[in-house]
Amino acid sequence: MSVKFVSFGANREVTGSTHMLEVDGVKMLVDCGMFQGKRVIAEQKNRQFLFDPATIETVVLTHGHCDHSCRLPYLSACGFRGNIYATPATRDIAGLIMADTAHIQEKDAEWMRKKKIYGEKEPFQPLFGIKDVLKVLEQFITISYRRDFFVADSIKCNFYDAGHILGSAMPVIDIGQGRKIAFTGDLGRKGTPIIRDPEQIPSADYLVCEATYGNRLHDPIEDACRQLCEVIRETVERGGKIIIPAFAVERTQDIIYYLHQLVDARKIPRIDIYVDSPMAFNATSIFRVHQECFDDQVREEFLIQDKNPFGFETLHYITNVAESKRLNEKDEPCIIISSSGMCEAGRILHHLKNNIEDPRNTILVVGFMAEDTLGRRIAEREPEVKIFGQLYKLKARVKILNTFSAHADYNDVKQFVGNMDLKRLRKVFLVHGEDEELEKMKGHLLGIGVKEVEIVDTGKEYPLYD
Ligand SMILES: [Zn+2]
Repeated sequence: MSVKFVSFGANREVTGSTHMLEVDGVKMLVDCGMFQGKRVIAEQKNRQFLFDPATIETVVLTHGHCDHSCRLPYLSACGFRGNIYATPATRDIAGLIMADTAHIQEKDAEWMRKKKIYGEKEPFQPLFGIKDVLKVLEQFITISYRRDFFVADSIKCNFYDAGHILGSAMPVIDIGQGRKIAFTGDLGRKGTPIIRDPEQIPSADYLVCEATYGNRLHDPIEDACRQLCEVIRETVERGGKIIIPAFAVERTQDIIYYLHQLVDARKIPRIDIYVDSPMAFNATSIFRVHQECFDDQVREEFLIQDKNPFGFETLHYITNVAESKRLNEKDEPCIIISSSGMCEAGRILHHLKNNIEDPRNTILVVGFMAEDTLGRRIAEREPEVKIFGQLYKLKARVKILNTFSAHADYNDVKQFVGNMDLKRLRKVFLVHGEDEELEKMKGHLLGIGVKEVEIVDTGKEYPLYD
C-alpha cells in the first residue's frame, strides 16, 4: 500500500487550508480553503492549484469557515467532479460563507475595474461567482457525526465533533488494514456556548494538527458572560451605547446567547439589542435549524422548554437599510451587534462613525483584529481613525474581551493529543500556525512524549507507513 500526505495550504500561515491524502493513487482533499491577507499575494495563491483538480476523487470538509471551504467553487470550476462530504450544518454554513465571498469578490472586481487596477486589457475577474457556488453545493453529501461512510473504495471516514464552530468536524480516515489518519481541522475549546466541546478522537497512526495558538493560553471562557455583563452595566450607567463588531457566524450567536442568559437572569438593564447584519441574521437562522449540534446546556435551558436561544423580547434583527439608518437617531442606551468583525466593511462602519466620538459609548472588541484593519486601530486605541475616508476622534471607551476564541490554546492541544495512544501515534504533522506558534507547539508536543512532530511545508510529499 502506498500512502502519501501532501499539504497545499495553511503551512506556516493560518489561511488556505488544503491537505491531500493519496492512497494507492486515489487522491482526496481535506478542505480547500481560501488564502487571505495581502491582496496581491493571496490572489496569486488562490488562482493557482498546485495539483490537477480533475484528478481529485473526493473532498472531506472540516467546517464552513472561508479559509477552509471557499476555494471549493473554484476547484469545481477547474474540473473537480467528485463528492464533497461534510456535516449537514457545515454544508449550510459553507453555502452561506461561499455565497457571501462570491458577492464580496464581485464588488471588489467592480471597484478594481473602475480604478483600472489590472489595466483595461486584463480586467480583474472574481475567482468564482454565485453560479459556481450553487453548482458546487450540488456536489455535497452530508453526513452526521459518528457515522462511518466510504469516501472511496475501502477508504472509510468518520466525523468527530471539533467544537470549533457549528458543524465543525475532525475527520478520522480509515484506509484499511487497521490504518488510521486523523485531522483536527480547526480544534475548538471546552466550555464555549451553544456548541458541544471537542470530542476525543480514537487512536490513530498519524495526526494532522492545527497550531494557531502554539504560544498562547486563553482567559477562561467562564469569565466571558460576567465581563460582558460588567461592560453593559457601566455603559448604560453613563447613558451610552455598546457597539460590538462581531463575525456574523458563531461569534454573533455566542454573544446573543450570553445576552439572552443575562436578560433572563435580569442581570443587565432592560435595553434594546439590535443585530444589524443581514449575514448574521442568515447565519442565526442556520443555527436555529441545527439543534443537533447544540450542547446539553442549550438543550436543557431552551429547547426542552421550547424557547428559542436566539430570540427574546428586547432583541431585534435588522435586515433592511432604512431600519439600520434609523438606529443612528436613537439617543438612549442600546446594544448594536454588527459586522464585519474586523470593521473592514459592512454596516458596522456606519455605527462606528456615528458613535465613536461620544465618550459615553463603549466599543466592545470580542474577536481577533488582523493587522492593518480598522478594528486593530480601534483595539490599539489610536486617538484618531479613518472611517469612509474621514478622520474621527476615538473618544468612546474601548474594551477588549479576550475570553472569546474559537481555537484551542496550547494546553488544550497538549491535552487532546496526550489523550491519544502515544505509542501508536507515529507522527504529528503541524499546520495552520505562524512560525513561532508552530515551533512552540512542536516543543509542547515533544514534551508530552509524542515521538515525532513535523512542521509541514507546502507541496512537500510525506510518505506514510514507510
Ligand atoms: Zn475555522
